[in-house]
Amino acid sequence: MRAPLTALSEEEEIFRDAVRAFAARELAPRARRQDEQGHYDPDLVPKLFELGVMAIETPAEWGGGGGSFFLSVLAIEELSRADAAVAVLVDAQNTLVANALLRFAAPELRQRVLSRMAKDTVASYALSEAGSGSDAFALQTRAVEDGDSYLITGRKLWITNAAEAGVFLVMANANPSAGYRGITSFVVERGTKGFTIGRKEDKLGIRASSTCELVLDAARVPKANVVGKIGQGYKIAIETLNEGRIAIGAQMVGIAQGALDDALAYTAERRQFGKAIGSFQAVQFQLAQMATEVEAARLMVYNAARLKDAGASFLMQAAMAKLFASQIAERVTSVAVELFGGVGYTREYPVEKRWRDAKIGKIYEGTSNMQLQTIAKQLQKG
Ligand SMILES: Cc1cc2nc3c(=O)[nH]c(=O)nc-3n(C[C@H](O)[C@H](O)[C@H](O)COP(=O)(O)OP(=O)(O)OC[C@H]3O[C@@H](n4cnc5c(N)ncnc54)[C@H](O)[C@@H]3O)c2cc1C
Repeated sequence: MRAPLTALSEEEEIFRDAVRAFAARELAPRARRQDEQGHYDPDLVPKLFELGVMAIETPAEWGGGGGSFFLSVLAIEELSRADAAVAVLVDAQNTLVANALLRFAAPELRQRVLSRMAKDTVASYALSEAGSGSDAFALQTRAVEDGDSYLITGRKLWITNAAEAGVFLVMANANPSAGYRGITSFVVERGTKGFTIGRKEDKLGIRASSTCELVLDAARVPKANVVGKIGQGYKIAIETLNEGRIAIGAQMVGIAQGALDDALAYTAERRQFGKAIGSFQAVQFQLAQMATEVEAARLMVYNAARLKDAGASFLMQAAMAKLFASQIAERVTSVAVELFGGVGYTREYPVEKRWRDAKIGKIYEGTSNMQLQTIAKQLQKG
């Protein structure tokens, strides 16, 4: 008999419980302060490496966990339940950069970079630019061959983890005459001459996560740092983002679950008309609707992740999971704010932060319109 989608193997359950305990102990108490200060505490990132969530799928021989994609999804969901701004750091590290290197990099580059990413090095994924967001392959960053290197020039925008990262997966066009087929992925080291981290964005939500501009001015990158082949960058970007967005769905499920947990606790405690507000049927129905939406989104996310791990096609399910999970995260967190009444609108409780954090789910790793476009195309293919 097939296991239910939400039934976890022993390994999955042990891992999920360890991340859940860490999130409650280490993340929840500092979530508000980190949100206000707009950066992580300096001791936080080393703790994430120690926990083993920075190299979940990287083989054990290179210091990683040798786990599945589904484990990354579980980690991101659990971290998001406490603080989605921390979860996104883990998300970009695992589901975008490590994923791209594992699948496409030559053995020497793969081992060199992934072993550092398993030990102490944070990574960023740099595709977007000011003029190319949804139309990602219109990117203007250029890579020009020069001896045994490439000289990369351009500006990247919205790059998650840039303040903390030691390595950057940068997409640049090495052959503009070939259009998007010239796009190539490079590993660029922090400290490379001609490469600087620019302005940091002041954001609505996930405020502790750094989102910065990257400035590349003839940054010299050895040919050994080309990921895969010249011109393979568009394929690397499409395929990693197709997978990565399942984890954004998990981030949204975690945010929504956190808001539901908060609302259940508060409505059991808060009294009006001589009773706990949770005893009013109207409130119970709001909670029931929230729980139903979280459950539906979780099933979609888990199904997409398990399809990917099984080697089955998951493109449409991934787009649907991210689309739906980001919709319900916004709705569930919004109702949670309302169930807290006036205090829900203050920083005294975490629900207003969850509501602000949820908004990003409809924007990054493909806006909701881009997810709908993917779903529509798959429907037409039949
Ligand atoms: C906090 C944050 C973190 C990010 N992290 C990263 C990162 O680490 N790496 C990275 O490379 N990028 C990152 N991004 C960039 C993100 O992926 C882009 O912002 C996103 O893809 C949207 O691009 P855009 O901002 O240029 O919006 P636009 O593409 O200009 O879209 C604006 C609106 O137009 C709509 N639209 C555009 N084209 C169409 C169309 N053809 N049909 C219908 N509607 C359309 C969109 O759906 C959207 O509603 C991040 C962004 C944010 C805000």
